[in-house]
Amino acid sequence: MLTTKKIKCDLCVIGGGIAGMCAAISAAREGASVVLMQERPVLGGNASSEMRMWICGSFGENNRETGILEELALENMYRNPSKSYPLWDTVLFDFVKREKNITLLLNCTCMDAAVEHGEYPDGRDTRIKSVKGYQMTTQTFFTVEAGCFADCSGDSILAPLTGAAFRMGREGRDEFGENCKVEKGDDMTMGMSCLIGARETERAVPFTPPAFAKKLTEKDFYGRCPDPYDDGQNFWYLELGGDRDSIHDTEQVRDELIALALGTWDYVKNSGAYKTDTWDVDFLGFLPGKRESRRMVGEYIIKEQDLTGNTVFEDEVAYGGWPLDDHYPGGFYHRGEPNTYYHLAPP
Ligand SMILES: Cc1cc2nc3c(=O)[nH]c(=O)nc-3n(C[C@H](O)[C@H](O)[C@H](O)COP(=O)(O)OP(=O)(O)OC[C@H]3O[C@@H](n4cnc5c(N)ncnc54)[C@H](O)[C@@H]3O)c2cc1C
Repeated sequence: MLTTKKIKCDLCVIGGGIAGMCAAISAAREGASVVLMQERPVLGGNASSEMRMWICGSFGENNRETGILEELALENMYRNPSKSYPLWDTVLFDFVKREKNITLLLNCTCMDAAVEHGEYPDGRDTRIKSVKGYQMTTQTFFTVEAGCFADCSGDSILAPLTGAAFRMGREGRDEFGENCKVEKGDDMTMGMSCLIGARETERAVPFTPPAFAKKLTEKDFYGRCPDPYDDGQNFWYLELGGDRDSIHDTEQVRDELIALALGTWDYVKNSGAYKTDTWDVDFLGFLPGKRESRRMVGEYIIKEQDLTGNTVFEDEVAYGGWPLDDHYPGGFYHRGEPNTYYHLAPP
């Protein structure tokens, strides 16, 4: 028999990426009892050691992350000056563990939800009563009943589990009058990436690609520079899947991303384009980092004009500093620059 456990709390957060962590920590500091359910063994989502997308939403002159993210960044500078990813995971872990009001369920996947119907003070007639998660390490089903739920899963898992409205893909230009949109709406998204990290060693290291690695030449890298001496390099443009379903096709896209990453490294090491005899791969993510997925429909949909016009919302909780950054659905196989930036006045 598998074990089952019940927990009651004020807020249940699904997904322990940076958004879910910040939601859980701020609610806990306000006195709420919080369950944070995270399906991976580490916190941080795209920013964790499993994926290694650094956090660069807001930085530069007059532009800092601020808030809990700033606290994390400062603690990381102190505890982890060499920016080791495994140590970064422990900084995130410690930040959540030290909050007495948070019950952290790692390795626990939210896979079901129960809704109930009635008349609620906010005018709605349906609310989520509980969610169910399976924790693989302990073979335990957790049922979490809460007053509020925050879906920070990136894939909006509570939408298919509860029937909540969501969108996926690109709206046509006529819907919101946005300039950077396509003329006609479609189901294309930005793609996903398996990032690579490399380091210089003290002696020559050969690289023999497996037969399944992509065979790539200089023209495949148009607008993309795989030079490992470039400091800002994490091969973010090894991106695929925007022209497919960013949920149901993920496993197939992952296989192609691994073949693409190894083909890229073969090009870097063996084409003669770069002096990389002593360079070695020290990370290759097997879990694709997703840029775009289901988007839950809330009370308000932010549009391009809100960003270009710096709309200030009465209930704002955060600000952004990254430009509008539109990636082509073809990803690595899009001929031309991999993305277009629409610059905004920061933040
Ligand atoms: C390659 C790449 C490059 C990027 N570059 C930039 C950039 O330059 N600038 C920028 O601002 N942004 C960038 N982004 C976007 C940025 O990484 C994301 O906006 C950010 O990570 C979102 O954080 P999050 O916490 O919302 O989601 P995530 O980081 O996706 O975290 C969600 C977490 O929820 C967990 N989860 C999912 N389903 C369940 C479930 N059913 N039960 C429990 N847990 C679940 C996931 O495992 C994950 O850990 C990039 C993204 C990628 C992939």
